[in-house]
Amino acid sequence: MKTQFKNLLQILDYFKDEATCRELLELQRWNGKPTCPHCGHEKVYRTNRGFKCASPKCYKKFSATTGTILESSKLPLRIWFGAIYLNTAHKKGISSHQLGRDLGISQRTAWFVLQRVRAMLKNNNPSLLTGTVEVDETFVGGKAKNKHAKQRREIKATGYVNKTMVFGILDRDGKTVHNQIVANVDGNNLKPIINEKVKEGSIVMSDGFGAYTGLNANYQHEVINHAQGEYYRNGFHTNTLEGYWSQLKRGIYGIYHSTSRKHLHRYCDEFAFRYNNRHVSDTERFINVLTKVADARLTWNQLTK
Ligand SMILES: [Zn+2]
Repeated sequence: MKTQFKNLLQILDYFKDEATCRELLELQRWNGKPTCPHCGHEKVYRTNRGFKCASPKCYKKFSATTGTILESSKLPLRIWFGAIYLNTAHKKGISSHQLGRDLGISQRTAWFVLQRVRAMLKNNNPSLLTGTVEVDETFVGGKAKNKHAKQRREIKATGYVNKTMVFGILDRDGKTVHNQIVANVDGNNLKPIINEKVKEGSIVMSDGFGAYTGLNANYQHEVINHAQGEYYRNGFHTNTLEGYWSQLKRGIYGIYHSTSRKHLHRYCDEFAFRYNNRHVSDTERFINVLTKVADARLTWNQLTK
């Protein structure tokens, strides 16, 4: 089985048929050792069309797509492979209109494919962030051009209508970002996330926003006072995370134009995945996604209800 490729063309050339695609999925999903997805039994038989569990209590049939986001899809795996590659290789992502044209599927199908690819990109086993860490929040939706402080004032005046709040933590040494939707940007919402995601004793940098007050109980908390025009002090700043926010927003406003609050968390997962895997090649990133094939489930009903 070949797993080294230079570009999309090589991938599509090699994965011409379902059998070859399945072979790669088997390798990536089970690291070459297929396990029964129904009961976890490690002894399995290969059949003509996939596998059969050897446990007398189970004996169920399965394949590399059983229990994954690709199960019951009518699309050829080759189309999914193309979609995963295109979505993770393009720095700002790809719209369902563009993906539909590129792969010869309808926009509606492409939209569903992309949402399911994004569900695969979610990091389900994040490691603890540590060392030098930046924290910040941002607002998506409403007037994109408004600056941070102005958006906070606007939210104070109008409430949270039309805006979704995203909270982010960036580990500057590990170059890893975590971002998630939050219901509200206050200490009660933000501080528990920091305590859960960041190792105690780390250096946490934030601006002077009141929600971050009290972080010095568990961390070396360095405040950069943006309100007084301070953006950098002795290496303390939140510029890396702000750079990530601008990528996220350029993508959402530029490629996706807008996205509803309901689906925004998946775009955040998509952008974080690309950021956290930006030092590997496009083809390696594609291969890496396939190891996560069994991590997520997302049905049409869940997406549209
Ligand atoms: Zn079984």
